[in-house]
Amino acid sequence: MSGGRQRFHCEVALVEGRLAERVRVEVLDGAVVGIAAGVPPQSGDVVLTTVVPGFANAHSHAFHRELRGRTHASGGDFWQWRHRMYDVANRLTPDGYHLVAERVFTEMRDAGYTAVGEFHYLHHQPDGTPYGGHEMELALAAAAASAGVRLVLLDACYLSGGVNEPLREEQQRFGDGDAHRWLDRWHRLRDVLSGQGNGLVTLGAAIHSVRAVSRSDLAVIAGGLPREVPLHAHVSEQPAENQACLEAYGLTPIALLAEHGLVSGRFSAVHATHLSTGDISLLGEAGATIVMCPTTEADLGDGIGPAPELQAAGARLAIGSDQHVVIDPLEELSRLEFDQRLRLQRRGVFPPDTLWAAGTVSGYESLGLSGSLGSPPGLRVGEPWDAVEIDTTSARLRGVDPWQLPLAARACDVRATIVGGRLTRPGR
Ligand SMILES: [Zn+2]
Repeated sequence: MSGGRQRFHCEVALVEGRLAERVRVEVLDGAVVGIAAGVPPQSGDVVLTTVVPGFANAHSHAFHRELRGRTHASGGDFWQWRHRMYDVANRLTPDGYHLVAERVFTEMRDAGYTAVGEFHYLHHQPDGTPYGGHEMELALAAAAASAGVRLVLLDACYLSGGVNEPLREEQQRFGDGDAHRWLDRWHRLRDVLSGQGNGLVTLGAAIHSVRAVSRSDLAVIAGGLPREVPLHAHVSEQPAENQACLEAYGLTPIALLAEHGLVSGRFSAVHATHLSTGDISLLGEAGATIVMCPTTEADLGDGIGPAPELQAAGARLAIGSDQHVVIDPLEELSRLEFDQRLRLQRRGVFPPDTLWAAGTVSGYESLGLSGSLGSPPGLRVGEPWDAVEIDTTSARLRGVDPWQLPLAARACDVRATIVGGRLTRPGR
């Protein structure tokens, strides 16, 4: 994060839900303290072209990047892909994890992601023995600080290999034994992480899924996790998860989580692909966030989730690159819309302001990084100076209405990324 006072001038900028021209942004210690539109640049300003808020990657597993380009050609399904993923998971040392994460976070930064929610479950040594000093978590924090992206470490409780099944051999390093011990480690980790990562790192929480955490352990988490902490969970990515949950508990995964009061405004359901109408109502009434991961869901053949129905019910939408077959916020956003056009056979399912919100403010809210709940997308006084400059003068984007950039731009159009006032250009 950059300290002191900085001033930027943007030819065009997205400010509180609308595009404005000739916008001057004043920044103090990495946060926006003043915005003025319709004004010329002054001497000493950093001059930028088209500027939009930074994108949030609300669901990432950094180490899945190692599978890119290696698992897409041979058919199979989610479960076969998962088997390959476990091979990678069990080879990682803390140093290796740091290296992989640093590269992935740098790729995200260059693509315009200014914040990432890392859904992390590689806690222990491959045989399940604790490292003792949070080595894997500190590796992620150091990687984010080095790459210069904001990290919310979503430390995941992962206790069982399936509904009422023990962890398998290849899952040993994920587990803490029970939810009490996960909570103990989570609280110790919070103390260790405070002060790490140049002010860019905070701790959130995750329930891996209802496959990995039993009903009784959900009750422990509901009672022991501080209420303000962002909480994420994989939900109903595959019909088989719904089936197993219904057979064991007579409830869908969302209904099971809601039974413990875990579906609330601080909750984010990742994927939420195969939902019942009751699930959609529960998520909407709670004002929960749905983290859609369109490129991953397409690659794994998961299906297309009911995003418009969820939004109509009251839920917010955010995006994640998940397994990183692609790291490109603009591609995720265009797919969010285009998948629904294919599913519903009509255009304009989501207006651009919904896509801007999904890419920016709703993702930040999902990660506990914004106090602008429900605000329109755009730069705003009081928020961190996290922003992206997009080159709209190139042959690719010449003539594009900036409002429609989520449907037309790609990560290759990102000219600069700013996180907490620190500006970097792709490849540097
Ligand atoms: Zn995931």
